[in-house]
Amino acid sequence: MSTPSHPALNWPRTDGDPSRWPETQPPSNTDWYYEDVPLSDPKYKLYEQKTGEFLAQRLGLPVDASQQRVPMPKHYRLFAHRKRQPDNSIRTDFYLFGSANTLKFRSVPEFLEHAFWLMDTSRSLDDHSQCLCPYSKNGKARKSLTGTSSIKRGSSTSPLKEGPMKKKKVAATQSEAEEEDGLAGVVPERAEELTSQRRFRRGELIWFRINNIDPPAKLKGMGLTPLTHWPGLVAQVPLKTRVLQSGDVASASSSTAWTLFGGAPPTALQPTKPDVVQYYEYHIRPLGMFSPSDEIIKHGKDLLPWSIGSELLAGEKGWDAIGHQAENYLREGVKKEAEGYKGRSLDELEALIGIGQKWRANWAKRLRFSEMPWEWDAAVFRLSIALKTAHGITNAWTQTDKIDILPQDTDITEDDMKLIMSQKKTLYQGLWWGGERIWLEDMVRLKKHRSDLPTDDILPPTEGAEDRAVFLKIRVIAIEVSQDQAQINETAWRCVLYGDVFELAMEGANDQLPTPITSNGEIPVMSVYNAPKGFVYRQLNDPDSEVTVDIIDVAGRVYPDLLDSATQSWFVDPSRPSDSAKRVTPGDGALALMGLKTGGLVASKSEDWKEDLWTIVQQSSKVCETKLKEWYVRLLREALGLPKENRKENGSNGASVHKP
Ligand SMILES: [Zn+2]
Repeated sequence: MSTPSHPALNWPRTDGDPSRWPETQPPSNTDWYYEDVPLSDPKYKLYEQKTGEFLAQRLGLPVDASQQRVPMPKHYRLFAHRKRQPDNSIRTDFYLFGSANTLKFRSVPEFLEHAFWLMDTSRSLDDHSQCLCPYSKNGKARKSLTGTSSIKRGSSTSPLKEGPMKKKKVAATQSEAEEEDGLAGVVPERAEELTSQRRFRRGELIWFRINNIDPPAKLKGMGLTPLTHWPGLVAQVPLKTRVLQSGDVASASSSTAWTLFGGAPPTALQPTKPDVVQYYEYHIRPLGMFSPSDEIIKHGKDLLPWSIGSELLAGEKGWDAIGHQAENYLREGVKKEAEGYKGRSLDELEALIGIGQKWRANWAKRLRFSEMPWEWDAAVFRLSIALKTAHGITNAWTQTDKIDILPQDTDITEDDMKLIMSQKKTLYQGLWWGGERIWLEDMVRLKKHRSDLPTDDILPPTEGAEDRAVFLKIRVIAIEVSQDQAQINETAWRCVLYGDVFELAMEGANDQLPTPITSNGEIPVMSVYNAPKGFVYRQLNDPDSEVTVDIIDVAGRVYPDLLDSATQSWFVDPSRPSDSAKRVTPGDGALALMGLKTGGLVASKSEDWKEDLWTIVQQSSKVCETKLKEWYVRLLREALGLPKENRKENGSNGASVHKP
């Protein structure tokens, strides 16, 4: 047992209990295990030194605080958590175990207030709520800025759309560097989705490929194309492993195997053996009033981003035509339905079908997608509903995964801390925007045209960059009280993103690739930012500054390898023009999604803020079906000669079926 550097740093008491230690195991085949950390380990030294320094300051000891050290309290012990990563490397996180009041401390900063509570005998050891650590009822849980942090100095907002960008200075805080344990504060889904660099994320709205449904011959010349894709939501994306038999074509090489199974191997997930391939299996929930438990399984290469929609089903005109087809189908169908009720009295009819009792059974049966009659009319009817539901989803947005911050968080500037503590500013890890999942650390496309960027703080464009998109690497997602509208009685909020701006430049000699966001040496979640072939991201703002952007300036996610023929089966890959069988030529929309055309070409304009993704999806589906059902009831009552229904709800004027 080592002794503290100063007599006042002897622990007067401890809440330590060896039964709180985790089970340790030798390295084994399991995915993770705990290991004892020897007292000589530098990690121990770090805890002892930082805790000593903190306590010396708090206790006001007349010594050089930075030279102090204190052993951990009795029955406290450091453990190394080793976890096998998908690429077979081992990640290590250190945790301090032993406290009877919490499972573990994940970093030195988490432990400091708890240490002071142990020192301060004026606060009862039996009442942990008097402690100010994140695990006390009075402390705020630190979910935190770990891996996401380093808020740079300065915080007043100046969104791109309203004027010149705000220059910000970087705070030179290197001292807290080594203390944080990697990705501790990052929600697992964000970590997984950013590190895997999977094209589609859970919850996203996408198109999936279906077997073609051709319009009947009589409808020729109406601008209709075969139905080739259907809107759906990504429900699950399990990683699958398949062992290839020697006879499989794909066993020839693992790269062919990847192509066969729908995608390029993510960098972090190379096959472990030559005869085993790993691939993502997308489980999709189709839109259009299907059974809520129904899921379709697709390979990644049969999926396309929702925002490519202008290039599918003949674009806007085609979608309108689908809407009209669906209207006709319902109108004709209602006539037939009405004939079936002939000879009944008005009262009988009213009881039977008056307010749409037959809607579900006759029109909106919760089929499985595979049970849908594979013919034009029925499919078009449901597709039009799916399109409108999807439209509702893209119109909505919300922020997710709030980041809790401790008052003593050293990464936060004083001004920002004031705003955060007075709840005028809140930080988040993610967003739902236009049916897409956007995470902190993502590179996103902006709507701004390159030539509209202010020129004072920003580099001039390289050749051709004016025709391409402008990008933001998101460092902070904040919801803030809007300064502009603060004088009005009600509080107005806005969502502001902080980060660096980029353009796409031709690959060249002096490329400076964007570095993943690191906070004082911490491990970033995002490992690398891929640009389309032949291009690099070129940072436009000074490294000592950053920009702020209002969420409405975000066009959406960027898909740099969207047209790669190995990862999608629909478009001709410009780098392999000969492989054009059963593929279509991509238009500007596809290029815009890659960042090769200006962001405004394909951009989300989500205006309805909602509570969460569940609400977004539920309401979009419900609103859409309710309107259609109202229209159905009106048509049916008309056809049966029933009086117009007295609507209870006011302001509802029924449905317009077309225009998805
Ligand atoms: Zn505590």
